[in-house]
Amino acid sequence: MNRYERQIKYQHFGEQSQKQLQNTNILIMGAGALGSHVAELLARMGAHKLSIIDMDIVELSNIHRQALYDEHDAQAMLPKVYAVKEKIKQINHNVELNAIHQEMTSNNIEDIISKIQPDIIIDGMDQFDMRFLINEVSHKLQIPWIYGAAVGSKGTVYAIDFTGPCLQCILNTVPHTGESCAINGVLPPVVQQVASYEVSELLRFVSGNGFSKKLITIDTFEISTRTRNIDVLKNNNCIVCEQKTYHSLNNSYHPSIESLCGDTFLFRFKQHAFEFAHYFPGHIIKENDYVKFINYADINMTLFKDGRMNVHGISTKEDAKTMYQQLNKSIK
Ligand SMILES: [Zn+2]
Repeated sequence: MNRYERQIKYQHFGEQSQKQLQNTNILIMGAGALGSHVAELLARMGAHKLSIIDMDIVELSNIHRQALYDEHDAQAMLPKVYAVKEKIKQINHNVELNAIHQEMTSNNIEDIISKIQPDIIIDGMDQFDMRFLINEVSHKLQIPWIYGAAVGSKGTVYAIDFTGPCLQCILNTVPHTGESCAINGVLPPVVQQVASYEVSELLRFVSGNGFSKKLITIDTFEISTRTRNIDVLKNNNCIVCEQKTYHSLNNSYHPSIESLCGDTFLFRFKQHAFEFAHYFPGHIIKENDYVKFINYADINMTLFKDGRMNVHGISTKEDAKTMYQQLNKSIK
């Protein structure tokens, strides 16, 4: 019996769509809550060409809402994309999974995507800035993409091609005013619902039916799903999809100190900072080939191989600046 028989039997899918799913080059941006669920669903369904890009490691606080990962991955501080690769291999050995452990910025996103040459992109990011970057690069490179977001009990899904409005067009219709999982929390079922609709849109795409052209909004706690026809949301003066102006993509400025959600800051050091971690104040509590976990008084620091550092336990920008300068002195 064919392992995909049940989905092939569905009348609008069939053998042809199954072949198309296997041959479609799919890029999943982010291996967090949405990305991990999308990756698992697609691997189970028989997508063979998958790329996934993410810059984080598995943490215990991820496991309640993210697929595939377990306590052992968190304990081992494993990069999410490598954990995904391991787990997917067990689920479906036919999947060629291209795992990219890297931070995506306006400086490298176009190169990364041009190299992968995906037929379609699925959004699994949790930052709005990044989604505008994906919106612009997808438009520039003419790649369809599926936007998905989940915060609190609410989720939004919208598949974007060149005939309808882009993310910039629907800017006022989707939540973007500083809402984030870290501040507002997130209920795990809405993550799965959003990931499922993202995959459903992808199945419409591979089966030749085209995207639904609906903006889907879900509230998992209110038990409600609404869809809205997107045609009315097209902005005929849109700077991205009409004027082809790519502000996010052309902005190459990346500050060395960035405030993230909660009491977390992102520091950017030179790449070789990873080799100088033992000169930093505090103690290296744990380390592997990808990351060093450092404790200094009430401050916890996670230093990545590329010189990024997540710093927890600093409350003000001034303290962050002082800390950054202190650490930077240790890097020769
Ligand atoms: Zn637009």
